[in-house]
Amino acid sequence: MERLSRHLGGPRLLIKRDDQTGLAMGGNKTRKLEYLIGDAIRQGHDCLVTAGAAQSNHCRQTAAAAAQLGLGCHLVLGGSAPNVRNGNLLLDHLLGAIVHWAGEARKGETIPQIAADLRAQGLSPYVIPYGGSNPVGSLGFVSAMFELDGQLGPRNKFPNSIVFASSSGGTQAGLVVGATLLEKDVSLVGINIDKGETNSPSFVDHVTSLANATAKNLEVHKEYQSGDIILKSEYVGDGYGVVGELEREAISMAARFEGILLDPVYTARAFGGMLDMILKRDFSKGDTILFWHTGGSPAIFAYAEDL
Ligand SMILES: *Cc1c(COP(=O)(O)O)cnc(C)c1O
Repeated sequence: MERLSRHLGGPRLLIKRDDQTGLAMGGNKTRKLEYLIGDAIRQGHDCLVTAGAAQSNHCRQTAAAAAQLGLGCHLVLGGSAPNVRNGNLLLDHLLGAIVHWAGEARKGETIPQIAADLRAQGLSPYVIPYGGSNPVGSLGFVSAMFELDGQLGPRNKFPNSIVFASSSGGTQAGLVVGATLLEKDVSLVGINIDKGETNSPSFVDHVTSLANATAKNLEVHKEYQSGDIILKSEYVGDGYGVVGELEREAISMAARFEGILLDPVYTARAFGGMLDMILKRDFSKGDTILFWHTGGSPAIFAYAEDL
């Protein structure tokens, strides 16, 4: 991001475009689904069940992958059916997913019941947890770290820090394990998206145990401690999905300096946090910082009134 780096007077800013992963408008969940759906197919399942918010990017990418592979797709979404379908929800329908409205239970609390109903109908559902974050899904971000290393090649300095939105933890856990395997000395700075009461200490514990389970899945002998996980919780504002000045400013900066679209829920908050850290001189001027764009742009249209 040369123009933005120059405007800010350093550090050098790079961006990794997981908004371009290709599955019906892209996003970071595609990397997890590569492994999760591989697992589902290997076990012979015929449909997928997962959960998220009404504007879940994870659910939209799951619906697209299911369509491509000829699997059924059941999405358990928080809230109730709106009058107008927009953003990711519109795409879920176009992609042929079956939506189950779950009220307050946006993190898949009702999945076991729905999976049981599908089994009773003779189907074989494969359950993907909220956000695709388990020791299988996280493998997508272990390999993402290798992909990044390959793209940078021997001639480019590996970033000093990587900044990204962290919400269900699989992205962060995978990157942490990938950095270990590659022996990279890089700060992996997760920006917490979801306030979840006073949840951030337990979220760090969740990412820590997910990183440990992912390492174990790869037969890597490494025991992470919560002190190994960097999570910034000061940018959550009024909570999940509530757009504030930080997000509006970030969307404007990325769009006007780089022609890059952020999403209102995740990447705008993470990018805004990164800009704030730059202004506060949390990074050295000579550093290279990589922003990992985790996708989500379809949600822009559903949040039009807040932008
Ligand atoms: C899911 C999501 C994230 C967070 O990734 P996790 O692995 O759930 O922490 C970040 N950005 C976008 C756009 C997402 O959809």
